[in-house]
Parts: sequence; C-alpha cells; structure tokens
Amino acid sequence: MPRRLKKPAAPRRATSPPTHTLRLLLGDQLNPDHSWFARPDPGVLYVLMEVRQETDYVLHHIQKVAGFFAAMRAFARELAGRGHRVRYLRLDDPENAQRIPENLRRLLARERAGRFEYLLPDELRLDAELARFARTLAIPAAAHDTEHFLTGREDLARLFPAGGRFLLETFYRHMRRRFGVLLLSDGRPAGGMWNFDRENRRPYDGRTPPPEPLGFENDVRPITAMIRDAGVQTFGEIDPRRFPWPIDRAQAERLLAHFLEHGLPRFGTYQDAMSSAHWALFHSRLSFALNVKLLHPMRVIRAALDAHEADPARVGIAQVEGFVRQILGWREYMRGVYWALMPGLERANALGHDRPLPAFYWSGETGMRCVAAVVRQSLARAWAHHIQRLMVTGNFALLAGVHPDEVDAWYLGVYIDAVQWVELPNTRAMSQFADGGRVATKPYVSAANYLRRMSDYCEGCRYDPAQRTGERACPFNALYWDFFHRHRGLLGRNPRLALVYRGLDRMGAAARRELLDHAGRLRAGLERL
Ligand code: FAD
Ligand code: SF4
Repeated sequence: MPRRLKKPAAPRRATSPPTHTLRLLLGDQLNPDHSWFARPDPGVLYVLMEVRQETDYVLHHIQKVAGFFAAMRAFARELAGRGHRVRYLRLDDPENAQRIPENLRRLLARERAGRFEYLLPDELRLDAELARFARTLAIPAAAHDTEHFLTGREDLARLFPAGGRFLLETFYRHMRRRFGVLLLSDGRPAGGMWNFDRENRRPYDGRTPPPEPLGFENDVRPITAMIRDAGVQTFGEIDPRRFPWPIDRAQAERLLAHFLEHGLPRFGTYQDAMSSAHWALFHSRLSFALNVKLLHPMRVIRAALDAHEADPARVGIAQVEGFVRQILGWREYMRGVYWALMPGLERANALGHDRPLPAFYWSGETGMRCVAAVVRQSLARAWAHHIQRLMVTGNFALLAGVHPDEVDAWYLGVYIDAVQWVELPNTRAMSQFADGGRVATKPYVSAANYLRRMSDYCEGCRYDPAQRTGERACPFNALYWDFFHRHRGLLGRNPRLALVYRGLDRMGAAARRELLDHAGRLRAGLERL
C-alpha cells in the first residue's frame, strides 16, 4: 500500500511575540552582566539606536563615534546571540528620527508595548530628557540602575559638608575601608601607607622598555562610511581597517590581561611620566572599556589585586595601590563630584577666563613641542594619558586664560573615553579650576620646570625652558607668573600657594614688569606660538 505522504506543514509565519516591555540601552550601557540579561524573555524588546542627537551635540573625534557604534553593534549581536530580542536602529535607517524620544515613541506605538524601562543615564542631559519622556507616557515606565558603579550618585556629597571641599584622600580611604581593599585585618592599610606617591611618579628612565600597546584590528569601514555618507562632522584620524579599541567583553578582557602582565608592574612608578618615544608608557588604556561598561570597575580592581597577591615581587604594593587609587578613588570620586556640582559645573568659570581655544588644539601646529606632541597624539589616537591631559594641554589652556566652555568642548570631543560625567569634573574643575577650588586645592599649573623634569619634550623644542623672557623663552614660564598675578584676588590667600606669591613678591619690580609684559604679548599672540 502506498504510504500516504504527510502534507508538509505550512511554514510558520515569523511573527514576533507581543512586546510587554520595551527596554532602552544607551551607547555607554553595554554591561553584559546586567541582571536584565540573566535570562531571555520573549516579551521584552531591547532597543539600541545610533542617533544624530548623540553624534552632533559636540564635535567628536571620528574614533569616538566609530568606537561607540562598533561597541553598540557588537553588544546588540551578543544579546541576540544569547536569545534576547533586539531592535537596533542604525544611523542610516530610514525609520530613524535621529532623536531618542521620537524613536522611542514610534517603537512603543508600533510594538504596542505595555511598559517602558531604561537604565539610569550617567549624564544629566539624558537623565533629564528620559525622565521627562517617561512622564509623558500613558503606560508605566521605570528607570533601573546600570549595576556598574561602586557608589551611588549622592554618596560623595553625603560624605562632605555642604559647600566644603571634596577631598579625594578622605573619599579614597573611605572606599578602601568600605570595600576592604588593600586593608589589613586590623583596619590599617596594607604596606603601612594609604598612598605610595613618594615612591611613584618618577620621570621615565628611558631604559625600562614599556610594553607594545595592544591594539585590536576591528574592521569599522562600514561604520565610518556610513558616518561620512550621513554628513556627520568629525575630526581626527582613524585606520578603519584596524580600529584598535576593544569593542566587546572578550577584547576588553584581553586588554586587561595585557595590562596586568606588562603594564601594572611599572604602573605607579611611571604614571606621571611623559615620553615622546612611548605614547602609552605603562597605562592600561582601559578607560573606554570601563566607560561603556564592558568592564566592571571591581573586576579590574580585583584582577590587579590578584596579580599583586600572586607575585608581590613582580607587582609591588606601590604599583597596585597607584592603580587601584585611579579606579576605586579617582573614577568614583569624579562621578560623585559630577552629581554634586551639576548643573552649575557646566557653566562654572570662577576665573572669568574668556579667550578662544587656539587653533593649534585642532592641528598640533605649534612650536611648543610638548603641546604639539600631546595634541598630535590625541588627534591620531583619540587618547592621551592623565598627565598629558592635565599638565600639557590643560595647563596651557588655563595659563592662557581660555574660556572653559571651549576647553570642555575640546576634551569632550577628542578622547575615546570622553563621557560627560567623567570629562566635565576632570576638565572644568580639576584642570581649569573653574569651580573655584572645590575639587583641586590649588590650580594644576606649572612652568617649564615640571615639564622638563617629567618629559623629554623640551629636548629639541624651539623654546628654552630655562628662559623667562625673550624670543626663545618657554611661554609656560611667563604665563605661569602672569596667571598668579592676574588671579591674586582669588588665589592670594590660599596657604598652598604662599610660596608662589612670595616668589612673585620677591621679584624686583622691573623684572616682574618685564615678565608680565612678556606674558601680555604672549597672550595677545597665542596663535603664533
Ligand atoms: P590609567 O592611567 O591606566 O588609569 C586606570 C583607570 O583609572 C582609567 O581607565 C580610568 O578609568 C581611571 N582614572 C584614572 N584617572 C582618572 C580620573 N582623573 N578620573 C576618572 N577616572 C580616572 N577619563 C575618562 O575616562 N574620560 C574623560 O573624558 C576624561 N577626561 C579627562 C580630562 C582631563 C582634563 C583630565 C586631566 C583627565 C581626564 N580623564 C578622563 C582621566 C584620565 O586622563 C583618563 O581616565 C585616563 O587617561 C585613561 O587612560 P587609561 O585607561 O590608560 O588610564
Ligand atoms: Fe613645552 Fe616649554 Fe619645554 Fe618647549 S620648552 S617643550 S614649550 S615646556
């Protein structure tokens, strides 16, 4: 008997399950361990979007835009691979309204979602916008923690009296105790000291070879082509065939492992050193992976502590403490400062500075070898280390009297790791003293001496670091004294600056006049330096 053939089943229509909740993920919320992703729920739709609202609010380095988009796309793929439903809106998607609220409104309507959820943004601008948006909805909405930071937004402000100074050292010791980091059982600090600054921060000796910086070879050509075709304005350089920054967890972990093996053993010693031959020296370059939340700060801290415990002779206490301080201390501290001082911090200009940022910040074309080196490196790599940012480009902008808005816009645009919660307190408060001294106990400025000691930039510079006036005198010198002279009203009674003002007062009147006149000419002709 012929077997009756079973009628083939009609192909199932690929309809998505109904969406009961739509969840938004921003570009710096790529935390693969977030509890949201513990198990897939077919009723939850995750939304990520590339929007002009975020590419255009400041002029960005091309690596920054490409890096965020590449990491977002990789994260969307990972979520989908883990069984989550994901809607990814590309910048060139015809349905993209280019603003987060408009896109959300359309998607919520189309999906007939019964609930909207988002992760708390770290930037006030988006925090306020999403809170406003949520209030306009007819469906329930909720904001959740990103499960990334070690402190709450308000923790720092609670630790210090209102209106007083935020002391990093107090905050850092509090964090060491709170998380039991480098702490003996009796509560004393491991190694007998809370910080090893005296052993650390040496100039680079030129002999200890720093590791070859680990770069990845991510192909971001489709992304850079899309950015260009969309007409997004960017600056800086990129090799889109070999985008070097980590764009997923696996790459971030590789960068961390590379740092633990090769960078950490000398991190503290050379953390403030600058070398024209070695752009990354012993730094971790983990800031992008941390700031988009591919890595958790405690994962990085624990990994560094483990490396120290496994072999204290290789990774000494001074090295690991220097590194832990950056993440457990500075990073969380800056976040606390941001929430404590916003929104005022964004407009603060305690020194009343008003000059435009010199054009050489966008080209590197200046005879000042230190500034040229750091700007060129920043344009080429979208990265500079802390002391390059603070004591070269930041120092010069402050001495020259550049308006903090212009300084801010540059820092927010140029660095791969620049997100406002960490960029703004570092730039506006710490580097430009625009908060009037709630963060820094004195302005971070220096004359040529510091730069000559901590770098090799002065060798071969058109200017002479030893001269104060004259054609060949290093501009940092006269500008330094002029800065303190101009701001005597605000800074003259600061006990930490007593020595500086004594030096200024002890100068003969004629010498002082000559120095200040020279500084006046420099400030009038910044573009020619
Ligand atoms: P490492 O030297 O290896 O330090 C390890 C980690 O510690 C960093 O990845 C970072 O997460 C953290 N860290 C170190 N110093 C600081 C600090 N002062 N504040 C917060 N975290 C810190 N950092 C940013 O992440 N984004 C910014 O937009 C930013 N803007 C800055 C602007 C100015 C003017 C200055 C002076 C500093 C700025 N920093 C910023 C801090 C610091 O320069 C970078 O975090 C660091 O250079 C990143 O390189 P790295 O990962 O190799 O750091
Ligand atoms: Fe910079 Fe002055 Fe040294 Fe030249 S001489 S590299 S301008 S500090």
